[in-house]
Amino acid sequence: MRAFCLAIAWLLAEASLAQSLDRAPNFIVILADDLGIGDIGVYGATSQKTPRLDRMAAEGLRFTDFYVSSPVCSPSRAALLTGCYPVRVGITGVVPYRSKIGIHSDETLLPEMLKNRGYRTALFGKWHLGDHESFSPLRHGFDEFFGTPASNDMGPDMDLEVRRQGKAGIGLREGDETIELHPDQSLLTRRYTERAVRFIESNRDRPFFLYLAYNMPHTPIFASDRFRSRSSGGLYGDVLEEIDDSVGQVLDAVKRVGIDERTLAVFTSDNGPWLIFGDHGGSPGRLRGGKKQTFDGGVRVPAIIRWPGVIAAGRVSSKIVTVFDLLPTFARLADAPLPQRAIDGIDLTRLLRGEANPSLSRRPFFYYWNNELRAVRSGRWKLQFPHVDHQAPDPAAIGFGGKRGKVTDVEHSLALYDVEQDPGESKNVAAEHPSVVGRLERLADQARSELGDSLTGAAGAGLRPAGRI
Ligand code: MG
Repeated sequence: MRAFCLAIAWLLAEASLAQSLDRAPNFIVILADDLGIGDIGVYGATSQKTPRLDRMAAEGLRFTDFYVSSPVCSPSRAALLTGCYPVRVGITGVVPYRSKIGIHSDETLLPEMLKNRGYRTALFGKWHLGDHESFSPLRHGFDEFFGTPASNDMGPDMDLEVRRQGKAGIGLREGDETIELHPDQSLLTRRYTERAVRFIESNRDRPFFLYLAYNMPHTPIFASDRFRSRSSGGLYGDVLEEIDDSVGQVLDAVKRVGIDERTLAVFTSDNGPWLIFGDHGGSPGRLRGGKKQTFDGGVRVPAIIRWPGVIAAGRVSSKIVTVFDLLPTFARLADAPLPQRAIDGIDLTRLLRGEANPSLSRRPFFYYWNNELRAVRSGRWKLQFPHVDHQAPDPAAIGFGGKRGKVTDVEHSLALYDVEQDPGESKNVAAEHPSVVGRLERLADQARSELGDSLTGAAGAGLRPAGRI
């Protein structure tokens, strides 16, 4: 009888979802680069003002425990677009410029999945899954690409003299063509936003997927004239206030063209703040560590989802949610088949609707640095495995004014943290909770057998190669 009632409840819930979706929603993913969880007002920032992001959170759902899959750019983006841990798809570290490695053509990426369902798709901003033409966004489901194929500190012109002049050597592409060398980086945020607004206006009558991946606030940081010297957070604060204003422009455009209630918009960051840059890096808030580290400050980022009419306003979720959950969620909402190959994400549609989702409560999260499984989280507990952190900021040599600081090696032993009570990961309570340690060890063993672990030598049965030219 209970099973029958559950089945009826499930059918009713499905019917109500179908009703709320008389057509598939548009998806907008706005991704900032190296923005920390402490950089936004609603997450506790005080040195810059982010009224539009704060309003987005007030109108939607804000996550406190949203994880990206890696504390660096390329793997994090690979996870967003494949629905997988990046180690599964072979993108384990930053993809350098002119790399022979990039995203594999056999992977089905989010834009490809949606394009097959009739979506118009665009990427404005940073790609970073390989700059060679065979890895191009246009070959992976994007109809349009305007932006940088890699970070804003790497590009086709790596001439030392050019770099001495303070230019990062980057090239701006339209599709597969480099249309500008050394573009004025202070205009990048504005130019991407203008393209995004135009894209929304011209696709108001058909479903679309807009991936707006700002280069900022990844160093070197720049703000346009209108925002420079405006915030009380220095140049970094100015950069964030410009991003905030841009998010507002995008959401205003959605409203203006009358598609507010059929547009799901996400704002998040690809990894935590780059702490060695000091005043040109962001803030991890109460968390420990930042970019290139597997403390939570490196991988726990701000995340807000807004979808008026479906997501109730002002909600806050502390569920463990990941960036690679977006792909199966969008698949479900767009009624698109999932990729043929295994994925790691979990469909979040029940959570978005405010319903219980037991599989989310049970899910572990694995902290990978390249192929090293450095920690696992389950519920409130995080078990860190012995490893050497080669990227710990050297407190005696933190950068300033755009100058990079230094890193140092720090050895870490086995430690258990209660990240609910102790978000700064300061108190090792492993000795008090041996059964928790044992349970998390067993979870880690599952990850090792599926995804591998170079710390223990585990090979991983579910790994797929990156693409190669
Ligand atoms: Mg990044």
